[in-house]
Amino acid sequence: MSRSPDASIAIAAHDIAAWHTHTDVLVIGYGGAGACAALEAAACGAEVTVLEVASDGGGTTALSGGQIYLGGGTPIQNACGFSDTRADMEAYIRIAAGANADADKISAYCEGSLEHFDWLVNQGVVFNPEYYGGKHTNTPEYQSLTWSGNEKGFRESQAAKPAPRAHKPKAFWEDGGATLMATLKAAVARSPIRVETDTRALALIHDNGRIVGALCRQDGELRAFGARRGVVLCAGGFVMNREMVAKYAPRLQDATPIGNPNDTGGGILMGIGAGGAAINMSEGFVSVIWYPAGAFCEGVFVNEQGQRFVNEDCYHARGGHHCLNQSGRKAYMVVDSTIFTEPPLYAAAQVKEVGESFEELERDAGFPEGTLAATMATYNRFAARGEDPLFHKHRDFLRPLDKPPYALLDFSIDSGIYYPSFTLGGLDTTVDGEVRRPSGAVIPGLYAAGRNAAGLPRSGEGYASGFSVGDATFFGRRAGRTAARNS
Ligand SMILES: Cc1cc2nc3c(=O)[nH]c(=O)nc-3n(C[C@H](O)[C@H](O)[C@H](O)COP(=O)(O)OP(=O)(O)OC[C@H]3O[C@@H](n4cnc5c(N)ncnc54)[C@H](O)[C@@H]3O)c2cc1C
Repeated sequence: MSRSPDASIAIAAHDIAAWHTHTDVLVIGYGGAGACAALEAAACGAEVTVLEVASDGGGTTALSGGQIYLGGGTPIQNACGFSDTRADMEAYIRIAAGANADADKISAYCEGSLEHFDWLVNQGVVFNPEYYGGKHTNTPEYQSLTWSGNEKGFRESQAAKPAPRAHKPKAFWEDGGATLMATLKAAVARSPIRVETDTRALALIHDNGRIVGALCRQDGELRAFGARRGVVLCAGGFVMNREMVAKYAPRLQDATPIGNPNDTGGGILMGIGAGGAAINMSEGFVSVIWYPAGAFCEGVFVNEQGQRFVNEDCYHARGGHHCLNQSGRKAYMVVDSTIFTEPPLYAAAQVKEVGESFEELERDAGFPEGTLAATMATYNRFAARGEDPLFHKHRDFLRPLDKPPYALLDFSIDSGIYYPSFTLGGLDTTVDGEVRRPSGAVIPGLYAAGRNAAGLPRSGEGYASGFSVGDATFFGRRAGRTAARNS
């Protein structure tokens, strides 16, 4: 076989003329999920080989902020003075995951959260028992604990006592992901795990329906890697594959894809080619950022009808989701001079209009008469009492906007403001990482984790930082363990 095979068709083992090598567990992709799958499979006594298309491991996990969603009373939560329970964490994630939530995965994740914290520490991950309480996209310095979602939101806080659960490995600002992957790779280097870089997996190999290896391109040749116990797909999401985005998640098309260049969905396509079901494929994280500074949460989002549509203190992915949902995808933020002079405006939104009154702002920006001004009058009337009966913004951010001049900041996607996005769909897997067929039956020998699978994060609207790296590392371990025990 000399031509590149089609990922969407698994190859029969009897068509393989010569096997390049064999191992017990073959892990495809050396990011967060792959590193953890390999470490756990090796700890179970399996011979493990990891294949990575790039020249080094890391993947999107290394580019990430490194926040890991952990709770139920971790040593870092306790040291920072927060109490948390598994039940509150589970109730929160159930709401956050939305209608497509996988209750079994959420339950397993919350039950295993403290053990997972300990496991990460045992691999060498250092968490710093310092808390950052401001509104930010990550902890701005070396603090390891912060809020990362909508835990304090009205609906969420009624169902679950809020607690900060984003745990960033000790690292400056956004370096948490690079630090996490450097630590996991060091753990892999101490183990007998074999890592082969510059190796692209192209298609899975099956023997009467059981997955027994993968055909790869390495050193310019097609090589068959055999797997006695199983193949674990950990090759990331598909946001860089614009054809797949157009087909499965068209809502993300105009947003800016973020991740590593190999987020092309190859692992998902290979899984589909072997008979696996792909689910949750239309969901994605889409954000627009208006904080820091936290003072911008005192601003008021309006649509082109001059109406509010979201609580402005929410997590930025919820804001991005709702801004994109407005008619014409038009969204603006009203601020007064107190907020506007608060440097810096992280989001770099353009000023669309400035006015000495809301009526002037409304007229000059072209809103129908009595719309924006009425919205602001209502907002200010309740905010003066510390109330937001429409969207339940937390009273910490409720203040009448009454210091002119007022400005209208443009958060519409066509204004050029940054809307980062990545995908949340993937192969349908059991809680132990086995890939399911559309019928629900599992495919023998095939496992998946991280963004190759549909895991913990199922909803862009409910997303919290830490869900993805938490999911990739936690369920990567489970998939590696299950594969290693497969005989
Ligand atoms: C800027 C940014 C910040 C983020 N911050 C956070 C955060 O703080 N917390 C959080 O939870 N989430 C965060 N995320 C999301 C999170 O990083 C990812 O969803 C998660 O790390 C994915 O892990 P993974 O192991 O599935 O994939 P990856 O880490 O991307 O690993 C996949 C690996 O597979 C390799 N690969 C791909 N195709 C093949 C192939 N055919 N053959 C061999 N190898 C292949 C890739 O090169 C890559 O190394 C962030 C994302 C971005 C882009």
